[in-house]
Amino acid sequence: MTSDSDTEPAFWETKSLAELAPEEWEALCDGCAQCCLIKLEDVDTGERHLTRIACRLLDIGRCRCKDYDRRHRIVPGCVPISPETVGAIDWLPATCAYRLRGEGKPLAWWHPLISGDPETVHQAGISIRSWALSESGIDEDAAYRFIIRDPSV
Ligand code: SF4
Ligand code: SF4
Repeated sequence: MTSDSDTEPAFWETKSLAELAPEEWEALCDGCAQCCLIKLEDVDTGERHLTRIACRLLDIGRCRCKDYDRRHRIVPGCVPISPETVGAIDWLPATCAYRLRGEGKPLAWWHPLISGDPETVHQAGISIRSWALSESGIDEDAAYRFIIRDPSV
């Protein structure tokens, strides 16, 4: 795969995650918003369970954070995903571009950097747009009812 021409290799193939410029790092995110789903932890076993409940700050229709610049201040549980932290995060979905590139795997056809179309991540059923529920309005005690299979495993 190439970026601008058949002779110019794509930045995500030639650079490691640590070598990416900030704008390249941001562009590598596919916009699936799977990382914005709420995870529940079993207090007895420490086992983590993924739900289809999305963070209250997520615009589900756009799969975009409503306040990206201030997200960590507004939502303390929002885990920073950066070149420094990504290697230690074990719950990113198998489709996550950071996880794929960290494992030396290629991006899929639906990734916007490959398709050239930000809609393909939704059309391919990778994003949470069509089935996530907002955390707002869901009783915390009822969250366990929304546990789903974890695509990171
Ligand atoms: S799971 Fe990965 S690719 Fe998808 S939105 Fe989160 S950081 Fe971006
Ligand atoms: S604060 Fe924003 S980026 Fe963080 S989990 Fe919530 S919606 Fe996602």
